[in-house]
Amino acid sequence: MHTKHKQKQQVDLGRLHNNDITAPRKNFLFTTFQTVTPQYEATFAKICLFINIKNMMEGGRHIAILGGGIIGCTIAYYITLLKEDPNLEITVIEKTDIACAASGRAAGFITSNWNDGGPLQDLTQNSFRLHAELAETLNGKVTYDYRPIQTLSITASVRAQNAKEPPIDWLKGKLIQKAECIGTTKTTAQLHPYKFCQTLIKEAKSRGAKVRIASVEGLIFDKYKITAVRLNDEVILPVDTIIVAMGPWSGPCLQWLVKQGDRMYSLPDVNGQRAHSLLLRPSVPLSPHICFMALSLGHKFSEPEFYPRPDGDVFVSGEIDNGVLPKSANEFEPNPTSIKNLKRDCNLLSPDILGTATVVKENCCWMPISSDTLPLIGKVPWLDGVYLATGHNVWGISNCTGTGLVIAEMVLMGQAQSIDVRALAPLRPKNSRVHQ
Ligand SMILES: Cc1cc2nc3c(=O)[nH]c(=O)nc-3n(C[C@H](O)[C@H](O)[C@H](O)COP(=O)(O)OP(=O)(O)OC[C@H]3O[C@@H](n4cnc5c(N)ncnc54)[C@H](O)[C@@H]3O)c2cc1C
Repeated sequence: MHTKHKQKQQVDLGRLHNNDITAPRKNFLFTTFQTVTPQYEATFAKICLFINIKNMMEGGRHIAILGGGIIGCTIAYYITLLKEDPNLEITVIEKTDIACAASGRAAGFITSNWNDGGPLQDLTQNSFRLHAELAETLNGKVTYDYRPIQTLSITASVRAQNAKEPPIDWLKGKLIQKAECIGTTKTTAQLHPYKFCQTLIKEAKSRGAKVRIASVEGLIFDKYKITAVRLNDEVILPVDTIIVAMGPWSGPCLQWLVKQGDRMYSLPDVNGQRAHSLLLRPSVPLSPHICFMALSLGHKFSEPEFYPRPDGDVFVSGEIDNGVLPKSANEFEPNPTSIKNLKRDCNLLSPDILGTATVVKENCCWMPISSDTLPLIGKVPWLDGVYLATGHNVWGISNCTGTGLVIAEMVLMGQAQSIDVRALAPLRPKNSRVHQ
């Protein structure tokens, strides 16, 4: 589709050797401007604007991607792939570690058609195509366990009568009431999300992107133009473009955007919702079937999801609750009851295999959810140089590639080329139905 997608292996060795971004940068006078207080911010905004204009005149722009989850990594990948300006600087600013949050701890399920008929349709379809293309380019089968896979929806009950033959041999027959194929190897696939993020960021770094481990604490504007990002320890990083991709932590950043001078604008809010997971290692390999279960326990329902992986592990997820979003992605504590419930479901549905498997990890993480449940993808119209790519809800792994590409197009070419994402624009279109 895009000829530019062919790997551009133009690695500027000089830039690679200068990859240590903690070193002061020649014309950014970095060390001089380290300590700022709010009253000096206007002055700093002007200084940063001056530095940015000077850099642009010398041929350089500086794009900062805020957040190193799967969305930030994919954007970094596509920007570095499509960029033509060798002086363009790209920095991913990540508070904790690349893919330390939901992006590294998700199941890794991807689909082509489960969002058909809704506002995510084009994004999901294009993302699926791009995932297949990337798996070819990056040897995804080996580097991040990409594989097309069949997906089943299975209804089960502890009180099942006339129980059916289980559709797969690792589920207990007696409980199964109904099984249905809801995804074929043409429409569903899986990947290891942590390995995928690491692969993409490595590619982006090989083409000059930098990763800076630091916390984004504020933004500095000159009127409506972004001029710098304020990091922890009052470090100021001059930039001319930012992309907000901080997943469930994007909320406070959006608040910095809506208030400009004495005017208030409006953006959907973004917050987080927690889900739990187990990583199991059974003693025998499981057939490649992802299973979405609806399990009646008599007094209540449970909806565990089983994802056998090519490396022999099985990812089990479910148990969504309103656990409070921690300050940092590494400060998480799964709810013991939720973990117990997931183990109960494994014991009921697969007592001989999942019930006796070694528990490698008990985990939880937060998915980013906007107030209207749809992602925010695009430019903030009242600001110069500010883009959003957040709120991907349960579809961040599936929809990351389409998001990364379309944001790269907007930032580098001024507008979306691959798909129409106007229904997902940060300023929601008036009178349009954006709800699914
Ligand atoms: C249990 C579970 C299973 C899932 N399974 C799937 C699946 O199979 N398929 C699918 O499509 N989706 C799945 N999802 C959803 C998917 O994981 C998310 O939509 C996706 O990971 C969101 O990616 P992100 O990059 O927007 O956010 P995140 O992964 O949350 O990344 C945000 C990053 O921003 C960083 N950050 C936060 N604050 C700051 C700051 N101040 N400064 C700098 N950096 C900061 C964080 O440290 C983090 O690394 C699942 C979610 C959960 C919880």
